[in-house]
Amino acid sequence: MKINENFLKLKDSYLFATVGAKTAAYKRAHPDREVIRLSIGDVTLPLAPVVIDAMHRAVDDMANRATFKGYAPDQTCYGYDRLLDSILDSYARKGVTLGKGDIFISDGAKSDCGNILDILSADNTVLVPDPVYPVYLDTNIMAGRKILFADANEGNGFLPMPDPNVRADIIYLCSPNNPTGAAYTKEQLKAWVGYALMQDALILYDAAYEYFVTDSSLARSIYQIEGAKNCAIEICSYSKTAGFTGVRCGYTIVPQELTRDGVSLNKLWARRQSTKFNGTSYITQMGAAAVFTEEGERQIGENIAYYRENARIISAGLDSLGIWYTGGKNSPYIWMKCPNGMGSWEFFDELLEKASVVGTPGCGFGKNGEGFFRLTAFNTHENTLEAMQRIAKLLKA
Ligand code: PLP
Repeated sequence: MKINENFLKLKDSYLFATVGAKTAAYKRAHPDREVIRLSIGDVTLPLAPVVIDAMHRAVDDMANRATFKGYAPDQTCYGYDRLLDSILDSYARKGVTLGKGDIFISDGAKSDCGNILDILSADNTVLVPDPVYPVYLDTNIMAGRKILFADANEGNGFLPMPDPNVRADIIYLCSPNNPTGAAYTKEQLKAWVGYALMQDALILYDAAYEYFVTDSSLARSIYQIEGAKNCAIEICSYSKTAGFTGVRCGYTIVPQELTRDGVSLNKLWARRQSTKFNGTSYITQMGAAAVFTEEGERQIGENIAYYRENARIISAGLDSLGIWYTGGKNSPYIWMKCPNGMGSWEFFDELLEKASVVGTPGCGFGKNGEGFFRLTAFNTHENTLEAMQRIAKLLKA
């Protein structure tokens, strides 16, 4: 028996463990000081009432023989019609027409970001942005693929564009981005779609933060770009959209038009899912189906507006200090340049020691993250305001 030695090539993930350990040590040393975490990458507001009502009704369905549900329908790859229809409606509102057969319900975007690689050859070369959501990188290291990096930096506003001299088979795009909060315009995505089509490459488009987009020039879905159905898979999540991080539900779009060498990727993915997956629970799917109703969108909109206000408070604070950053407007993340040329960990330590505020060092997301720092909008208004006042006091001093 031999292990998959590619796992030995993975770098240990010290980032959040080190942030946690340093914060805990600081709290032990200063029990009287209140630490504010602008490092939270998880939602904090409860589920919307429409979702809770729908899930309660689904629990009642499970309590009666006449309405009880066992395995979800396999003809739609385990998606219940009510949920699939609501997803089709949400795409229609973005001007995108899909078919039910294009949609695969999942237990969240992270699983599908990794699992989708099952249907793609290990010989493919992968292009990932740097800095990056670590899942794209690690899942490809596990599979032993050759990995190239697209440099995101201050010069390109952390939105790398295609380089015609670079040949890649699989391209990861995430917009609005984690960790940088930067979001592609439709024009920019057009260039990526053109590049992918020219190279016969596949774009894996992570739209986990799509519901934070307010600016109409920005893309809400890669399928708003002509030709994308022939070169892109879109991975979506209810986690940040509707607070489902603990409930677990997402959906992946593999258009039926998407083929390579005459083979349908949709059929391969359906085959993969029916072999290795048995669906997302009925109760969860019914809760998710309530999200894209008119009332559901209004209610999740209130939660998103709450986080957006925090992002505005952080952005306004950085503006007044003259600090360069991306994100904050169409994203819950703010990616700031560390002041006075400090390194990411140097700034982390300074902020913790002198302001009792915790953020996430950018260098943990890739080499281009060195010298940058991620703040998030998931704390309360009060804590966010207080944290920004402390940061302003520290940096003005
Ligand atoms: N994609 C990105 C870019 C994320 O930041 C996250 C979560 O933080 C995910 C996917 C995972 O989403 P899910 O909770 O649906 O697995």
